[in-house]
Amino acid sequence: MIDKEVDVAIIGGGPAGMAAALAARKAGVEDILLIERNESLGGILNQCIHEGFGVEIFNEVLTGPEYMQRFIDKIEKQEIPHLLDSMVIDISKDKELVIASESGLHRIKAKAIILAMGARERTRGQIGTPGSRPAGVYTAGAAQNFINLMNLMPGKRVVVLGSGDIGLITARRLTLEGAKVLAVVEILPYSSGLPRNITQCLEDYEIPLYLKHTVTEIKGNKRVESISIAEVDDKWCHVPGTEREFDCDTLLLSVGLIPENELSRNAGIVLDPVTGGPRVNENLETSVEGIFACGNSLHVHDIVDFVTMEGDCVGIQAANFVKGKVCGDGGIDISAGNGVGYVLPQCVSGDEDVKLSLRVREPGRDRKLLVKDGDRIIKEIKKPKVNPAEMIKVGLKKDELKGVKSLSIELE
Ligand SMILES: Cc1cc2nc3c(=O)[nH]c(=O)nc-3n(C[C@H](O)[C@H](O)[C@H](O)COP(=O)(O)OP(=O)(O)OC[C@H]3O[C@@H](n4cnc5c(N)ncnc54)[C@H](O)[C@@H]3O)c2cc1C
Repeated sequence: MIDKEVDVAIIGGGPAGMAAALAARKAGVEDILLIERNESLGGILNQCIHEGFGVEIFNEVLTGPEYMQRFIDKIEKQEIPHLLDSMVIDISKDKELVIASESGLHRIKAKAIILAMGARERTRGQIGTPGSRPAGVYTAGAAQNFINLMNLMPGKRVVVLGSGDIGLITARRLTLEGAKVLAVVEILPYSSGLPRNITQCLEDYEIPLYLKHTVTEIKGNKRVESISIAEVDDKWCHVPGTEREFDCDTLLLSVGLIPENELSRNAGIVLDPVTGGPRVNENLETSVEGIFACGNSLHVHDIVDFVTMEGDCVGIQAANFVKGKVCGDGGIDISAGNGVGYVLPQCVSGDEDVKLSLRVREPGRDRKLLVKDGDRIIKEIKKPKVNPAEMIKVGLKKDELKGVKSLSIELE
């Protein structure tokens, strides 16, 4: 039995969900419900007490809590209804949601749903690191949560596997709190974090970065006692004779985020195997009509400002949908060509100007992005520097999309 009907239900009260709620309200939707499983809004920003947020949107350098508070204040001022400590455990194609909270299970029917569930960290089991199974192996985000929110130190002598931003930031945080970070170990020949974080989190604290290396063994009985690492060749096989061992009590994993999409899968939403998020059209609408996606649940973002911008866009589109405005149906398929990891959205109608988000596969200098319809080059963009850690935005005017059947974007 349905307990309540709403116009727009938003799953996840992080920066994406909050921006979507505010944009939907601004676009005239009164009846919104924002649902968050944690005890407060803000998402992962609650634990990101370092600076670096808000440069694009506010032209200011804010901490995560400062950034999120600006949105929480607006949600409260505009009295946008939100449920806390409430987890959506199921959604259906008919846009029915099942919510578990202290007061029991509730069923809600929405005219439109916005997926803004964020991402979760890859774990040891998912990367198959060999060795024994002692305590002291954490994801970097879990360690960040311990230090910043619970005032607990996860360890004293630490090795970090993976050079993603979360690992770099947590390596600096641990150092500031008195731990010794012995090494950051990265299997790729380049870091997967933002260049500014390499400088500000590793070089400034003299933390060594071992590129083309991986962890070959975790040793320890009750607690981690040591970690062995070795260099890898181009096929990621260990190079004999390059092994080294670090006496340590902790291994942190910063080996990538996985967009949170169990709910999407249950609702039959088509997912993209490369991004891990739903396939969407230019309105960020998924394969199920009236269900939209944004933020890290759609694809892993580099900076939160872009998450907020995406949330804005989805809020407006969901409002349009509720008001019966017909959205374009995405007749032009978009694919990632040579050197490009992925492009989002995966299809556009060609009826509107669009902004595409993409990531390259490898760092490089003096490259060109080519937007192509078959062999015809529609647009060429010079890129003095490209880096997989940084998302690239490409704008296309609807005139440029006239007569286009399919688009591919490649790196020359
Ligand atoms: C450690 C770390 C450091 C970062 N540093 C920076 C930085 O310096 N600068 C920068 O610009 N960006 C940074 N980022 C990136 C930025 O924080 C993220 O891109 C942004 O928070 C993603 O927003 P989101 O709303 O998509 O996801 P989240 O912030 O993860 O929010 C998702 C929310 O959905 C909720 N949720 C999930 N499933 C359900 C469900 N079933 N029911 C109800 N609620 C649910 C979660 O509890 C969570 O609150 C960092 C990220 C991390 C993890």
